Amino acid sequence: MIAAVNKVLVIGGGFSGMTAAIQLARQGVEVDLVEIDPLWCPLGAGITLSGPTLRALDTVGILEQVASEGYLSKDFDVFSPAGELIVQLATRPPISSKPIPGGGGILRPVLARIFSDKTREVGTHVRLGITFETIVQRGDGVEVTFTDGTSGIYDLVIASDGVHSRMRKEFFPEAPSPKPIHQSVWRAVLKRPPEIVRPSHWLGRTKVGVNPISDTHMYMFLMESREHSEWIDPEKWPGEMARLLGEFPAPLLQTLVPQLYEPSASIDYRPLANLLVPLPWHKDRIIMIGDTVHATTPHLASGAGIGIESAIVLAEELFSHSDLQVALSRFEERRWERCRLVVEKSARLCEIEKSGGSKDEHAQIMHESFMTLAEPI
Ligand SMILES: Cc1cc2nc3c(=O)[nH]c(=O)nc-3n(C[C@H](O)[C@H](O)[C@H](O)COP(=O)(O)OP(=O)(O)OC[C@H]3O[C@@H](n4cnc5c(N)ncnc54)[C@H](O)[C@@H]3O)c2cc1C
Repeated sequence: MIAAVNKVLVIGGGFSGMTAAIQLARQGVEVDLVEIDPLWCPLGAGITLSGPTLRALDTVGILEQVASEGYLSKDFDVFSPAGELIVQLATRPPISSKPIPGGGGILRPVLARIFSDKTREVGTHVRLGITFETIVQRGDGVEVTFTDGTSGIYDLVIASDGVHSRMRKEFFPEAPSPKPIHQSVWRAVLKRPPEIVRPSHWLGRTKVGVNPISDTHMYMFLMESREHSEWIDPEKWPGEMARLLGEFPAPLLQTLVPQLYEPSASIDYRPLANLLVPLPWHKDRIIMIGDTVHATTPHLASGAGIGIESAIVLAEELFSHSDLQVALSRFEERRWERCRLVVEKSARLCEIEKSGGSKDEHAQIMHESFMTLAEPI
């Protein structure tokens, strides 16, 4: 079988774009990747890696390194706001015939460095601090000019430039825009008390969670309902997060409060939004992947995971069909239901949390979603 592409341009070097580059370049496709951020480094927050995400990282060939620089765990604890253990939930079913752990966490810049090293190692031609200027589709290729004055002709352009994608706005103007969900998330990186050995959630009127990201550290997230996504002066973020944590008298959480005032906490506050672009995700020789088309809120901690999976599946289909349009359509068919599930179920979880709705329904959705996501991609 001849691959559908010989030369590909990836626009956007996040987890989705880097995975596409790795999976294509390692099998002989010539890949250029342009990333607008000259430092190629995401925000210093933690990220949760679900079992299916770890399976995808194994496919990319970086699971071992993630295990040594991050933290792998199984199961997770659910506590009352006062700190009584309500239930310990198992991260099952096993998601592979290989011994892949149930979940884990890592610092985003660490994961990004592991990914970017692999991206370069497989021969991707990476250029930082630049983007496209013009893109013109001709019948047999795509002509692209770049902001550094260079140009190239490609069989396929992969748009992985994220939720605020310029590619989507320019080439898919009919696509919806990200939708605010009136919930915000606060995140901080903290020293890990020895008793935190797995992800733990405290469920009250809102939700706090911690997840180990290394032998020494963990990250904390705190969800807050906010009708308006008003700007909050970053100088007030530690005090604001401490105030919100006041709703959780659990002694362990309260001992963490002083750490919020240390610069190393790297607090981040962010109003949440989601996006699910209806199919098709491609036009001729441009295909969108990752947050560009399926940006979810973090309620199932699977957004990066489904982006990485999408890139894996795209490469598989490009190597399975010599006809590019068939490969792209087949890719979309394989990805739609799974990505829809994550975006829509996460939105439902958000609704339940905001309205103080049924905790049973919340638990049921989490359980069913994780069962589905454990299935092969
Ligand atoms: C608060 C929060 C918490 C989350 N927590 C988790 C979690 O715990 N687990 C999980 O799996 N997912 C989580 N997610 C989701 C996850 O962060 C995203 O799904 C994932 O980062 C998307 O990766 P991506 O590569 O598709 O897009 P992005 O990460 O947005 O990457 C896009 C890249 O394109 C670059 N770019 C942008 N414009 C251009 C341009 N014009 N030209 C060139 N380059 C460009 C950007 O600089 C960036 O590097 C969370 C999301 C949020 C908002």
